[in-house]
Amino acid sequence: MATSVIDHPVLPEDANILATGDHLVNLNNLGQAAQERLRLRERRITELELRGEIKPGTILNRSPFTLRVESGLIQYTVPPRPKGKPFSILTITGTRSFPIYRGNQEMSDKSLRGKYDVKVLLPVEQLMEFKHTYIGETEEDRLVKAGGVIIFEGDMEGVTPKSTVRVPEFVFRKGERYLRFRDQLLKELIDEADAQMKNRCMAVLIQADTWADDPKTRANIQDNERIWADFAFEQQWIPAARAWRNTVIRPEDSCPRCNAQYVSKTGMCKCSYVVNPLLAYMSGEIAVDHVRLNTLSAEDWKKVNAEQKRRDDARK
Ligand SMILES: [Zn+2]
Repeated sequence: MATSVIDHPVLPEDANILATGDHLVNLNNLGQAAQERLRLRERRITELELRGEIKPGTILNRSPFTLRVESGLIQYTVPPRPKGKPFSILTITGTRSFPIYRGNQEMSDKSLRGKYDVKVLLPVEQLMEFKHTYIGETEEDRLVKAGGVIIFEGDMEGVTPKSTVRVPEFVFRKGERYLRFRDQLLKELIDEADAQMKNRCMAVLIQADTWADDPKTRANIQDNERIWADFAFEQQWIPAARAWRNTVIRPEDSCPRCNAQYVSKTGMCKCSYVVNPLLAYMSGEIAVDHVRLNTLSAEDWKKVNAEQKRRDDARK
């Protein structure tokens, strides 16, 4: 399967969207071809209704981020997973339809008539756009997309992790795309969504750790990284909160020489600059004749001298 054919999972490449909803057509100035399209649309929707194929579609968001999908035809957002909850939910119920034309838009109604078609998107088909954006189709996709997303046909009524749900997928036959479903346990879908999300999260944290070490790249750490860091800690994917998570590193917490965040317990930065001479002396990092001790106050010198005396006495 070529990946190019699934670049736009919902809209065919030759789709030209003339209306963005099912009620936006102005009936007063419809040409003959447009009226035919409208009739075609009504017929398609009626067929689907009579066959019982118009069912709700549901997306579960396990991630701490807002999910967003906007194509000329659909605009949906799914809120972030609330703290302490297993997911946030969006269920959609309506169809969306759009005309497809092949050829020149400027042609007269008469010549267009035979070239128009109308495509009706089922609720779950619309949600495939989320799958494309957040799950992906190929193995490579799955490494770079955020995951944490589950899509199935139906609503949440009576659904538990032990339920079997109908999962939509696109298949391609002779250049055409078809929607089909497979049954899967919701529990398994959640595990898959979480595995992808955790992979992505850990990759982001590793990148952010590298950024945090270098003052030139530290500003690359933005909300996205902070949200992942907090979420990873909540999920117990990491044993402790990331040090760089503490929003902004204050200047007084940075090393004056290398500007890295200064986290030493011995008064000495990893670049070997003595940030805190008194502490560095007390912890044995520097000797009493170190030049940085010249910055000490008289009060601190008393402590240094007392300690030096203790050390000298101890050696005797
Ligand atoms: Zn330093």
